[in-house]
Amino acid sequence: MKIICIGRNFVDHIHELQNEIPTDPVVFIKPDSALLRNNNPFFIPDFSKEIHHEVELVVKIKKIGKSIPLQFSRDYYDEIALGIDFTARDLQSELKAKGLPWEKAKGFDHSAVISNFMSIEGLDLSNLNFSLHKNGQVVQSGNTQQMIHNIDTIISYVSQFFTLKIGDYIFTGTPAGVGAVAPNDLLEGFIESNSMFRFYVK
Ligand code: MG
Repeated sequence: MKIICIGRNFVDHIHELQNEIPTDPVVFIKPDSALLRNNNPFFIPDFSKEIHHEVELVVKIKKIGKSIPLQFSRDYYDEIALGIDFTARDLQSELKAKGLPWEKAKGFDHSAVISNFMSIEGLDLSNLNFSLHKNGQVVQSGNTQQMIHNIDTIISYVSQFFTLKIGDYIFTGTPAGVGAVAPNDLLEGFIESNSMFRFYVK
């Protein structure tokens, strides 16, 4: 199983980090040891003083595929979840400044939170709201309409480079409002009005 992530997919988030709008999707990978599930607490790692939450929709791949034509992307998934792409922003900034890969800042243990999955049947994936609440306050909210590259485009694009296998996960990018987490924060994520995850930072 691999975890493929898309960066810089919401314009308002690109602006808040003062990045450039990319022409092609920005792609990176987290290892399977990054997974955190079942509302288990997230422990802030020692190597960072600035762990940011990035709430994102996550797609689960249900069929093996390579170089998938856009019009067939829809055959490769039928469930979505909500996730957090935890990012050691201080470390990422250092690595970016040196032109080095981001893996340590993005792929560390338990940096990929994924909720239970729900069927996409009956959902309008082109107009779906999702949000993250921290200690009861909304800190991030997005709608799939704001995505530069939609789920089908992402699947077609990444499958040119990586064979997609059953059970792979794709994080599809975060909207604006990323920010630091602190011990005892309670993070709760919603797709529309469905509570998808609820866990504590330690
Ligand atoms: Mg992200």
